[in-house]
Amino acid sequence: MIVEGKAKISTDGIFYNPRMKLCRDLDMLIYSELEKNTVLDAFSATGIRGIRAMLEAGREVVFNDANPKAVEVIKKNLQLNGLSAEVHCREATLLMREIPFRHIDIDPFGSPANYIESACISAEFLSVTATDLEALCCKNSASMRKYSAVVFKTDTPHEVGLRVLLGYIARISARFEKKIEPVIAWTKEHYYRVHLRMKRSTSLSLKMFEKLGFLVYCPKCFRKEVVKLGEIPERKCRCGTDYLALGPLWLGELKDEVFLEKVISKAEGEQKKILIKILKEIDSPTSYNIQKICSRLGRSAPPTKDFVEKLESQGFKASTTHYCGYCIKTDAKIEVIEKLLKA
Ligand SMILES: [Zn+2]
Repeated sequence: MIVEGKAKISTDGIFYNPRMKLCRDLDMLIYSELEKNTVLDAFSATGIRGIRAMLEAGREVVFNDANPKAVEVIKKNLQLNGLSAEVHCREATLLMREIPFRHIDIDPFGSPANYIESACISAEFLSVTATDLEALCCKNSASMRKYSAVVFKTDTPHEVGLRVLLGYIARISARFEKKIEPVIAWTKEHYYRVHLRMKRSTSLSLKMFEKLGFLVYCPKCFRKEVVKLGEIPERKCRCGTDYLALGPLWLGELKDEVFLEKVISKAEGEQKKILIKILKEIDSPTSYNIQKICSRLGRSAPPTKDFVEKLESQGFKASTTHYCGYCIKTDAKIEVIEKLLKA
């Protein structure tokens, strides 16, 4: 018997990942602040997330798993918690195309790429987990196949990965005349998690393309430039190295600050800590790993917080990041960063 949050479950051989507890803790805080629509837990496994959502966030949940053994376990676990709910044993894409759900949670084994289109048809709110980080942040062959995007490993891979995932969801949502509004996006250990609103509007879905584009990256000096769709970047960096273009990816905001503040006011402990870090991040897609820049310059890195303050004192936007202790986000160019690091 496993106790997580207010739920108790037995796994009976069905996959349960205790390392995702913090993720589910955060999900419950987020679920609680949202409109109380019925959630489709499209890949329920033991049912842990859905059961917690019923017990902790007051949500009505429809469960689904393609594995009949998992369905048995979900039913048992619902009973164990004194709950009753609809449980389906379907291939998720087919279920999502058949029955409309306003909130869909996609937490599959591996890549969520194949499920996004079916979810976009009816969802007004979408929660997605991705564990294929390699494909999203550094492995070109996999990202091209799964996400129709080109990626290379940069000095801040997770900034790229989260934005490739959101960019992919945005491009697919536009097929259904919808636009996305990220509520929160984070990475921890071996997964990415995004929660987003989807709004139907032909004009807004077109306007959304202004937030899609490429990150132009110099693999030698780490310079990054943002290039919107339709713009032509320079071929070479100022240091003489050929640029790499990554994307298409999401260049817009990664969070809804007002929503996040509400969530934070009810959070505690480790959850609160990570949420505050995310809230403090600036929305700029240009991020840099200070330690890697310093090692190229043959210097030791200053404390990240101090360096952020230094950039701010020079009039630049800057922040730490939740995904890496040595990484910053800033609108300052690489030559400014280098100059300040050398000073
Ligand atoms: Zn360069």
